[in-house]
Amino acid sequence: MNSEKFSDFGLIEPINHALRDIDYSIPTPVQVQAIPPLLAGRDLLGCAQTGTGKTAAFALPIIQHLAKNPRKRERGIVRALIVTPTRELAAQIHQNLNMYCKYLNVRSIVVYGGVGQSPQVKSLNQGVDILVATPGRLLDLIGQGYIKLQNVEIFVLDEADRMLDMGFIPDVRRILNYLPRKRQTMFLSATMPPKVVQLAKNMVYDPVRVDVTPEKPVVEFIEQRLMMVEVRQKSTVLMNILKDQSVSRALVFTRTKHGANKLVKLLGRADIPAQGIHGNKGQAARQKAMADFKAGRIRVLVATDIAARGIDVEGISHVINHDIPNIAETYVHRIGRTARAGSHGISISLCSPEEREFIRDIEKLIRQPIPVVSETPFLINVQLKPVERPMPSRPKNPRSSSTQNRNRSRQGGPSSQGSRGNWRR
Ligand code: AMP
Repeated sequence: MNSEKFSDFGLIEPINHALRDIDYSIPTPVQVQAIPPLLAGRDLLGCAQTGTGKTAAFALPIIQHLAKNPRKRERGIVRALIVTPTRELAAQIHQNLNMYCKYLNVRSIVVYGGVGQSPQVKSLNQGVDILVATPGRLLDLIGQGYIKLQNVEIFVLDEADRMLDMGFIPDVRRILNYLPRKRQTMFLSATMPPKVVQLAKNMVYDPVRVDVTPEKPVVEFIEQRLMMVEVRQKSTVLMNILKDQSVSRALVFTRTKHGANKLVKLLGRADIPAQGIHGNKGQAARQKAMADFKAGRIRVLVATDIAARGIDVEGISHVINHDIPNIAETYVHRIGRTARAGSHGISISLCSPEEREFIRDIEKLIRQPIPVVSETPFLINVQLKPVERPMPSRPKNPRSSSTQNRNRSRQGGPSSQGSRGNWRR
């Protein structure tokens, strides 16, 4: 499949030229499967997560369609609409569109909340072909008459599962009411829980189905570690982990914005420069934090799930879960930020007794236990108390010796030493 080249898709030369500029030569599996039917005008039901190349998979056919069917731009009239849950993702998609459209007269604009609307309105008034938007700001601007969707030819709903998690489904339904019935629809989601499938059914017609979700999501390339830690010990343990210089680029997740702010301050006081990104930060501050992280000016970025969605930074050596997510899929999304493109990565999850049930759900989803590491050199002063916990699913014969060994290993007992490998690699 992947012997295919972009030049085999029949894309117009200005697009191929732009792709050569950014060194895309071999299409990814989602691109191989989605681009030809999308170019033929089919709807798409795609199960693919960030990092698979899904943006180009839906963006290139859109650009080709618009370039081949030029129309005079009219104020606020959108031809292709891409709706996505977070501003980071919206900004990233917009950036990609600009790269792909470099040699074409196809104009893309991005609108999202949390920043003043005037520059966005000014830009819309100059004419738009492709609009990338988050739901809230989109509906705001539609309400004020700056955006008109009645002529949309192609509609993309990206990260539908995250829309659901973030409570955006009513907004999506309102947006749908503004769209013409006759259109091409591309529906993308990293996972397909029943509610998402239901939503998709009402939106796509005879879609081509593309599923590039790995059977075992991401985890093969990631060395996962679990540390049983009391809540009050978490920040100390985290600081000790981060002081180790082998942690070259770490993304730390917290459950709340407040938690992220508190951690950044604590780390700063411990001489570990870090920055935070979350929904309460202004766009400029978020972009600066991302730029500093990407350029290696800071080693540590503290993020909430929503803000981190769509972040694509290479070379993240460690993902650290300061708090365990209560949705198992979120864990997979989080740790997938490391080990990009098949490289090796480490994830460390700090689990308090209250969070053990979340770990059980996660282990069910990834279909493997996460090895517990509790006795590490830097924890000597932390008085770490190992926490007992049951296995996620009951083994057939609970008395079998292998089970006993496994349980011992989960409590940080001596028998687990051998299976842990070299944890401070
Ligand atoms: P996405 O899943 O769309 O967020 O893409 C993940 C990353 O892969 C982005 O940095 C893209 O620019 C890059 N990418 C997408 N498709 C290709 C390709 N065919 N060859 C090389 N890089 C790609």
